[in-house]
Amino acid sequence: FCLSGAMEDVTGAQLVAEALKAQKVDYMFGVVGIPVMEVAMAAQAAGIKYVGMRNEQAACYAASAVGYLTGRPGACLVVSGPGLIHALGGMANANMNCWPVVVIGGSSDQKLETTGAFQEFPQVEACRLYSKFSARPSSLEAIPSVIEKAVRTSLYGRPGACYVDIAGDMVNATVDRSRVRFASCCPPPPVSLADHGAITEAISVLKAAKRPLVIIGKGAAYGRAETALREFVEMSGLPYLPTPMGKGVLPDDHPNCVAAARSRALLQADVVLLLGARLNWILHFGIPPRFDPHVKIIQVDLCAEEMGNNVRPAVALLGDINAIVTQLLMCLCKDSWKYTSDTEWWSSLKAKMSANSKMSKALALQSTGLMNYYTVFHHVSQLLPHDCIIVSEGANTMDIGRTMLNNYLPRQRLDAGTFGTMGVGLGFAIAAAALEKSENRGRRVVCVEGDSAFGFSGMEVETMCRYNLPVIIIVVNNNGIYSGVDLETWKEMAKMGDLTSIAPPVTLLPEARYDEVMAAFGGEGFLVRTVEELCEALQLSLRNWERPSLLNVLIEPSSDRKQQEFPWLTRSNL
Ligand code: ADP
Ligand code: MG
Repeated sequence: FCLSGAMEDVTGAQLVAEALKAQKVDYMFGVVGIPVMEVAMAAQAAGIKYVGMRNEQAACYAASAVGYLTGRPGACLVVSGPGLIHALGGMANANMNCWPVVVIGGSSDQKLETTGAFQEFPQVEACRLYSKFSARPSSLEAIPSVIEKAVRTSLYGRPGACYVDIAGDMVNATVDRSRVRFASCCPPPPVSLADHGAITEAISVLKAAKRPLVIIGKGAAYGRAETALREFVEMSGLPYLPTPMGKGVLPDDHPNCVAAARSRALLQADVVLLLGARLNWILHFGIPPRFDPHVKIIQVDLCAEEMGNNVRPAVALLGDINAIVTQLLMCLCKDSWKYTSDTEWWSSLKAKMSANSKMSKALALQSTGLMNYYTVFHHVSQLLPHDCIIVSEGANTMDIGRTMLNNYLPRQRLDAGTFGTMGVGLGFAIAAAALEKSENRGRRVVCVEGDSAFGFSGMEVETMCRYNLPVIIIVVNNNGIYSGVDLETWKEMAKMGDLTSIAPPVTLLPEARYDEVMAAFGGEGFLVRTVEELCEALQLSLRNWERPSLLNVLIEPSSDRKQQEFPWLTRSNL
């Protein structure tokens, strides 16, 4: 049926592009080649911004970051076989983080299936383990509705990755427009509220608490619960602790934030209001030795299957965080209850916070010769604008950086996340910077990387330079994974024999010139050894809105974290 009676042919590539645009997918990241070249061009023609990356993995990380930052998935465009397989890492990471992303993969021609065609691979099956939805439209006519379903599935319920496979011979094939089943834009996910009785129950558990704690996870950030949550925290007077990416939902310098007393807060809390965070390794499974064995958890999540993982909640509030926090707030308002600030719990938390921040400051001033992590972050934290977007990955770099670099605004910290993935940083930074640029916002993107982490996607500095994305990369360079050796030791080792037999597996090339990698593509590179050089380079970079910069900060190769109360990843008693 065609109103005008005129015939108009559309290609598969156009249908993919137009369908994505119709679903308000405005950004695409990819690596083109046969058979998806035309899809990227059609995407641009349809008004989608296309960012060409250097590896599909980084492209998929970038597309998923757009999903987290905007609430609408980014698209990742990949070629068949190896291209799609590279993207699996990004899909897994997005799915683990509960971030929406839609991957579009070209595949070998339908008519060549099972013949050993170029880059032939069972792509739809391969994606199942890494996604919520994986399908191939059976015809050109079906493309828009399959894409609508992929976008909708990526957003509804627990967000995640979706895959649409486009056979190579569909890309340039044509169909008359009047035959196509078009699908209109899927609305944002419907919002569900928690059961009213459960809300009353949660409030009475909270009121009875001696040592209550609110934990704010990245589900609260994704769910845009910041306004309701601030009101709830301020009205209830409760202390809160953000998870790594929950940082900034409420500012890190808010008087109710007890991040600097994290271990004590977790260990001694008798009631925890858990808002959009899983009781996985990041929260030490919610069990001893890191939690009180009798802690009562009020669990808030939109995923019913999450309820009761590792700990049976005292109250389960199923639904959207923003809506549920509003429900809790309304219940609180009725009898104007407030957890007072003169409790023993608050004094104990405050004492611990001030001791811990004193210790970090002392460690920052301790370094002689090359800097340690604390010195670097102490100075970086003083120079960064409050509205900057902090991307971070690495081992000590990420862990220590998280405690010392404050976030003041929601969704402005992106890191290795639930999956602990190294290599996400540059893709995330490119996504954030591309959004800032095209939406004319002026927030700075600062990417704080360990030297090892940087290496996973290091070639993406070319992408940053190509699109003039003024990202500031700070490589905290300790010559290795966890720790490295100094240049002299390395040279001695090289004289002693074959390095593949004797070099510690953690080592990377000492004093590697990552700054020159950036300079090679026209960005600014700085080699930094001292506090003065660090501050000067960062100030110069912050003034440069034209091009990206990379600060290669050589630190003491054996610099380490301060003594920890608990070994990392303790999982006894589970
Ligand atoms: P963190 O890494 O901060 O601990 P997780 O990724 O482990 O956070 O947990 C986030 C949780 O938030 C997931 O279980 C997810 O189902 C949930 N979630 C995501 N969006 C919402 C929302 N809008 N409302 C409620 N829960 C949400
Ligand atoms: Mg390192």
